[in-house]
Amino acid sequence: MKIFDGCEGFLWRHYQENNCNAYLIDGDKRSLIDPGHAHLFQHVQDGMENVGVGIEDVDVVIVTHGHPDHLEGIRRFGKPTLFAMNEDEYAFICKLAGNYFRIPEPDFFLTAGDLTIGSELFQVFKTPGHTPASICLYWPAKKALFAGDVVFNQGIGRTDLPGGSGEMLKESIEQLSTLDVDYLLTGHGEPVIGKDAVRANFKVIREQWFPYLTR
Ligand SMILES: [Zn+2]
Repeated sequence: MKIFDGCEGFLWRHYQENNCNAYLIDGDKRSLIDPGHAHLFQHVQDGMENVGVGIEDVDVVIVTHGHPDHLEGIRRFGKPTLFAMNEDEYAFICKLAGNYFRIPEPDFFLTAGDLTIGSELFQVFKTPGHTPASICLYWPAKKALFAGDVVFNQGIGRTDLPGGSGEMLKESIEQLSTLDVDYLLTGHGEPVIGKDAVRANFKVIREQWFPYLTR
């Protein structure tokens, strides 16, 4: 579905299978954020085809963190599509995955700070807590935040998986809550649209979830 001009969201609403929401930034360069599980990738591919974008038209695949339900679909891409994720996250997930599934080597690493893709400027935020080196991507011109599994509509990312930390997740969410956001584009569930809704969502999270994030 169209989130706004230049951004499509392929939301995952299946009631049984776990997959993440994927988002396409459709500008002079095309970026796909979180391709999802490889075996469920057709969902993303169909969504892209609906807006006239083929898999080979994607310039960069950006992965917020290394969990298979966000990353694994990278296997469907070949060169010249570039693959980018955080270096520490890559090392973490390679170690965790062992020989279970092979992760392609990123073409470049995402570090905190500015990131230019084509004519668009983004900011990468390091947001550990759900995993040790998750990132979120902020698009200031659109006030859009691609939040991965850090913060959801009425919820937060799990901290009980390997490398998770409640304290770190809390700090990461606090950092994100200071941004000017009209579109909170979550890795699962429904995105939160509208500045007031986003602000209210952070308030709910602070009040209802933070008391449980103690370690
Ligand atoms: Zn995850």
